[in-house]
Amino acid sequence: MTEEPCQCSDCQRFYREHDRLIREFPTFKQQQELNWASIQSFRTLCSRVTNELQRQLSERESNKDLTLEEKHISDTEITEALDELESVNAYLYSIEALFERIFDTKISNNIELKFKEIADELAPDPLNIDRLILNRLFHQTPDFPDKKNIN
Ligand SMILES: [Zn+2]
Repeated sequence: MTEEPCQCSDCQRFYREHDRLIREFPTFKQQQELNWASIQSFRTLCSRVTNELQRQLSERESNKDLTLEEKHISDTEITEALDELESVNAYLYSIEALFERIFDTKISNNIELKFKEIADELAPDPLNIDRLILNRLFHQTPDFPDKKNIN
C-alpha cells in the first residue's frame, strides 16, 4: 500500500496534533500520564452528560410543563444520545481497565532517553508511517469499504 497521505483539513489537524503530543510528551511516563488523563477526562465528561440527560428525561416524564430552554432537545434525541453514550461509557471503562495495565509499567532512565531520541526524530516528520496508520481511525471518511477497495 503506497497511498498518498490524505491532506484534507481533518487529517492535517490530526498530523499536527499527533506531532505536538510526541513533541510535548516525549517520554514513556509522560505518555502514560497524558493518555490516562485523556481517558479519564473523556469518561468524566461523557458520564456527566449521560447523568444530566437521564435526569432531564425523567423530569419530563414526571413534569409536563417544560421551560423553553429545556425544550430545544427532543425526547427522541435524548433517548438516542443516551443509547450511544451508554455504549461509549462502557467502551471507555474497558479502555481504562486495559490502560491500568500500561500505567503499571515502569521504564528505566536509559530507555526513557531512547524515547526522547525517537520522539525528536518522529515529531518533525510530516509523513511518519505510524501516524498515517493511526490516522485511519481518526479520519472522517474511512478509506473503505466504499472507496477503491471494491474495484
Ligand atoms: Zn483526510
